Amino acid sequence: MQTASEKTSTTPKRYLAYALRLIAIATFVALTNHGFLSRVALVHDQGRLVTLVGFIGMWGLCLVALLIAAFQSNVWVRCFWALVIALTTAAGFAYRRASGSELGIFDALSLWNARHEAARAAAFYTTDLYWFIAVGVCGFAVLVIPPVPSRATIKRWLTRLMWVPAVPVVAIAAIVLFKEGGGAEVLPTQFAPLSVGAVVVSKATINPLPQRRKIAWTWRGPFAAAAPRAESPPPSAPVIRAPQVRHVVMLIDESVRGDYIDWTPGNPYTPVLASLKSKLVNFGPAASGGNCSHYSNAILRFGAARTALGRPVLTNPTIWQYAKKAGFETVYIDGQAGFNRNPGKLQNFMTAEEARDIDSFNPLDEKIAPPDLDDRLLDIVLKDINSDKRTFIYANKNGAHFPYDNGYPASATVFHPSMTEAKMDTTQTRVNSFRNVVKWSVDRFFKRLFAEANLKDTVIIYTSDHGQNFDTRRLSHCTVEDPDPREGLVPLFVITDNDALRARFAAAAEASRSHASHFSIVPTVLQLLGYGREDVEKIYGESLLEKNTRPPAFTTGDIFGLFSSKVRWHPLDLSKNYLEPEATSQPAAQSSVSVPAGTVVR
Ligand SMILES: [Zn+2]
Repeated sequence: MQTASEKTSTTPKRYLAYALRLIAIATFVALTNHGFLSRVALVHDQGRLVTLVGFIGMWGLCLVALLIAAFQSNVWVRCFWALVIALTTAAGFAYRRASGSELGIFDALSLWNARHEAARAAAFYTTDLYWFIAVGVCGFAVLVIPPVPSRATIKRWLTRLMWVPAVPVVAIAAIVLFKEGGGAEVLPTQFAPLSVGAVVVSKATINPLPQRRKIAWTWRGPFAAAAPRAESPPPSAPVIRAPQVRHVVMLIDESVRGDYIDWTPGNPYTPVLASLKSKLVNFGPAASGGNCSHYSNAILRFGAARTALGRPVLTNPTIWQYAKKAGFETVYIDGQAGFNRNPGKLQNFMTAEEARDIDSFNPLDEKIAPPDLDDRLLDIVLKDINSDKRTFIYANKNGAHFPYDNGYPASATVFHPSMTEAKMDTTQTRVNSFRNVVKWSVDRFFKRLFAEANLKDTVIIYTSDHGQNFDTRRLSHCTVEDPDPREGLVPLFVITDNDALRARFAAAAEASRSHASHFSIVPTVLQLLGYGREDVEKIYGESLLEKNTRPPAFTTGDIFGLFSSKVRWHPLDLSKNYLEPEATSQPAAQSSVSVPAGTVVR
């Protein structure tokens, strides 16, 4: 027992030691986490208040659990949690250093599948391995070195709570399962990688995942001389022939709804595109593949066939593998790298393994103002398609990413009041802001593209990842159950000055009216790259070069069959008029609270 005089002399020292320890733990957390404030700002800007509360609450739970772990009086319990948390943090931190992005479910899956390469990876990522060790050792030290409370009541309570640090691990794992693979973004590195890893390891052991297939096609015909490798195909193997064009571009816009591109001559919304209509082949409006960025882009990059969703999406060769095998240089442009939900460069389920097949990786970073992003993207596209080398480009535009008003300069506000001007989030202000951003980042964009691109030996396939719903009581997109059809309503058109190809596209568009779909894009690209039509159609279905009369539909939720066995399909009637009454506001209406006649104000 301490005497009273001993107590007064040791107490200030003890407080100082506690303060130092708390500062050390706080510093450890601050230095090993990334993107918290920008995530809060993003979710707040998007008006997702429930998500915001959940996100901050989850952080609070993690921090409390961390303190409970660090202040356990039993040294062995403390060491156990310190080891678990330090290793988790070190793994998450080192992965982000090595890859530039947070450890997501699909990264963890591909790491798990490549675990036989661990030694070679360690050799390649030596500096990151040093970081792993440094973070692990520091983390262990700050979580183990005393002081810890010595008062009996506090000790007893902490001992009772010794399993609480497992709660955030389980909770984050539950979110990942519930959100079908998402939901762990920007949660504390002290716990989240462990949850992601646990989900993946349990999923992968229950249901082991095969590697991505190699391409079955082989080289033959006059083009074989240019083949990267000499191969002698067995007589039955499908063959790759000469490509049909020198440049193939998949131009994927963001959140642009199909019916917000107006083709009526002289319309105020997208007048440039309307005036260019005769120079392109319009297939739209079309049905998207998914109603959420990551699923739609995965369907396009992984060559998901309508009839073969689920596990094949994880084992198909990627579009990059096909392009490279056909002798094309692969170019990826990410117009959203600077401020997407996943801080870093890999978006939409792209893993480091997939990125290995990309020759030129172009993330547009946060130094570029959002209204300029699509112009910088176009600069790169133009440089490549105006060159002689054979290129395949996959470009993700910034387009109409919300908040819509950030995507265009205030001086380009044509439809009033925008959400910013009105300081109100109504269907009318959403529609106005959306009209403005589409005019800026789609209509103006194509004016420049047509003026500056040499399209003789190029095919550009343009679409958007998903549509958009402006009902303020519902999600704008990514609804999993019972989505609004507008979430799957996208534009789809093809641009080329190759006359023979144009004629074929035009005939197919005419024959396939109201049946256009994202699922026709990959088979089109494969044919353009030189893969034979019959062979492509057998696996991937109809392309945009053939008549298509399949009923259009889009999917929601997990398309990989990892988190649920059923794929959710939603039919979409493309001949229907989906435009909101609010969508007819005219640019002439400039007064501060202008509401066009006949419009219902909500
Ligand atoms: Zn999107």
